[in-house]
Amino acid sequence: MADHDLVIRGGVVVDGTGAPPRQADVAIDGDRITTVGTVTGRGRDEIDATGLLVTPGFVDIHTHYDGQVTWDPYLTPSCWQGVTTAVMGNCGVGFAPVRPDKHEWLIALMEGVEDIPGTALHEGIKWNWESYPEYLDAVANHPHAIDVAGQIPHAALRGYVMGDRGADHTEVPTADEIQRMGQLAAEAIRGGALGFTTSRSVNHKDRDGNLTPSLTASADELLGIARAIGETNEGVFEVITDFTDFDSEFALLRAMSEESGRPMSITTAQLGLHPPDHWRRLLDAIEGAVNDGVELRGQVAARPVGVIMSLEGRIHPLLVTESYRKISGLPASERLAQLRRPDVRQAIIDEMSAAPTSMGPMNNWSNCFALGQPANYAVRPTDSIQARADKAGTAPAELAYDALMAFDGAGCIYVPVANFNDRNMDMTRAMLVHPLTIPGLGDGGAHCTIISDASFATFLLTHWARDAAPDERMPIEFVIQRQCADTARMVGLLDRGVLAPGYKADVNVIDFDKLSIGRPEMIYDLPANGKRLVQRATGYVATIVSGAVAFRDGEPTGSLRGQLVRGAQPAPVVAGSAGSGR
Ligand SMILES: [Zn+2]
Repeated sequence: MADHDLVIRGGVVVDGTGAPPRQADVAIDGDRITTVGTVTGRGRDEIDATGLLVTPGFVDIHTHYDGQVTWDPYLTPSCWQGVTTAVMGNCGVGFAPVRPDKHEWLIALMEGVEDIPGTALHEGIKWNWESYPEYLDAVANHPHAIDVAGQIPHAALRGYVMGDRGADHTEVPTADEIQRMGQLAAEAIRGGALGFTTSRSVNHKDRDGNLTPSLTASADELLGIARAIGETNEGVFEVITDFTDFDSEFALLRAMSEESGRPMSITTAQLGLHPPDHWRRLLDAIEGAVNDGVELRGQVAARPVGVIMSLEGRIHPLLVTESYRKISGLPASERLAQLRRPDVRQAIIDEMSAAPTSMGPMNNWSNCFALGQPANYAVRPTDSIQARADKAGTAPAELAYDALMAFDGAGCIYVPVANFNDRNMDMTRAMLVHPLTIPGLGDGGAHCTIISDASFATFLLTHWARDAAPDERMPIEFVIQRQCADTARMVGLLDRGVLAPGYKADVNVIDFDKLSIGRPEMIYDLPANGKRLVQRATGYVATIVSGAVAFRDGEPTGSLRGQLVRGAQPAPVVAGSAGSGR
C-alpha cells in the first residue's frame, strides 16, 4: 500500500518563499502538497530527484492564449518552459464579451496587436459564448494540461457596450455606457476573471492599422470601470501605456488603483520612444504610490525584448533585396534550394551590403545577434554581426545570410528592441531586482512571427541564477520566488507558487545544470496551417500539475488535470507544519 500519491525524493527544494535551497522530499496527495521534508512513506509514483532542483510550477501572468486555449489542450510553448499557470487576457485584447457581429472585429484586433494569424483564430474559435462568464465556461469545458486564468479585456468590453463606436478610441462613452462597462467588468470578476486589462499604446493597432480602442479612454471611463471592480473587493488591473505625458498618465493609473483599492501591474520597459531614464522614473513613481498604500507594481521582462528575424518570419534582412523578392514567392523547399546556390547567395549579399542601413532593426548589424542552439540571449556588443564581421574581415551581410540559412534555413537573428539602451543587461537586471517589480511580459501565445519570449521564465534560471557573471548573478531562491509566489500573489492566486503543505501540487523537477533554451522554431500547427514561433527547453525533467506529471522531459504524458482558475484563490489553511512527515 502506498502512503502518498506521488513522492519526489531527495531533490534540492527551492520552495518559492525565498528560503535557501534545502534537500527534502515532497509528498503529494490528490492535487495538494502534503509534506515537504523527510518522507518515509512510499508513493504510488515516485520521482528520484537526486541532484535535481524541485521548485513550484511557474505562474506566468502575461500570456495571450485567449484563442488558443479553446483548441490547444497544452498551451505550447509555455508548458515547455515550466509554466503551470498561464494568465491570459492581457493588454486589453481578448474575445469576450462579444456580440456575434463583432467576432471578426476582435480577431482583426488580436491579429494586429498580438500578431496571431487571423485565419487561425477564425477557424479555431467556436464562439459559443457572448458574456465573459460564458467565455470562461467554454474554456473550462476543454481539458488542459496546465491551469489557465482569464482577465476581461477593455477593447472587447468597449465594443460590447458601445457597438461600432467602441472600436474608435476617440469616441467617448456616455455615463450610461460607462456604468454598463463597470457592471459587466464586475460581473466578469465575480464570474472568475482575475482582473481587467487595458492598453494605451500606439504600438497596438488592429490588422488594418486602426489604433487600439482603449488608447485614449478618458479618466471617467477608466475610473468608472475601476470603481465598479473595486466594489467586488477582488480583481487586479494590468495596463500597458506609452506614458506620453508621464505625470498625468501615472496619476490616472494610480487613481484607478487607489479609488478601487485593487492592485495594478504596469508594463515597465525602456523603449526607443521613451526618454532614457523612463523606467527609473516609473519605478520611483510606483514606489511613491506604494509608500502611500497604493498597490502598484512594475511588470518587467527577464531579458531585453527582442525581435526574432528568420526567413519564415515577418521580417528579415533579405527582404530589402530585389534578388530575394524574385524568389520569395516560391514554395519553401524551392526557395531554400535557390538560396543555397552560390550565385544567388552572392547576389543577395551584394544587394544587402549596398542597401541603406536605415531599414529599421533589419540591418542595423551592430544590434543583430545570431541565435544558435541552445539560444544564447546573453549577448555582448562583441557578439554582434557587425563586430564579428569586422573581426573576420567579411561583410556583415554575409554573416547575416549564413545565420538565417543555418539549421536548414531556419536560423534566427535576435534584435534587442527594449531594455538594451546601454547595449548590456544592466538595465534589465536593475528592473528585475527592484523590490516593486514582478516578472512578466512574455506574451506566450502571441507575436507568432516576430517575438519568442514565452521562455522568459527559463531565462531567469539559466542566465540570472546560473550563467551570469558572479557579481550579477541572482540567488536561485530569489528568481523562483519571483516567478512563482510573487507572480501568483500579484493576480490573487495565493494557493500556489509555494512548496508547502496545503498548496497546490504544481511542481517542476529541473536538471539545473542541463537547463537550456532551444532556438526559436517556426511551426505550422495553428488552425488553417497558421504559423508561429515556438521554443522548447531542455532540462525540465518533470512538470507536475495538480499532483500528476503532465510533462516528462518536455513531452506530454497525457495528463490533463489543468483547470480554469476561477477568480482569486485564498492561501491554504494549514493544520500541520512543514518538516518531517510520513
Ligand atoms: Zn501582452
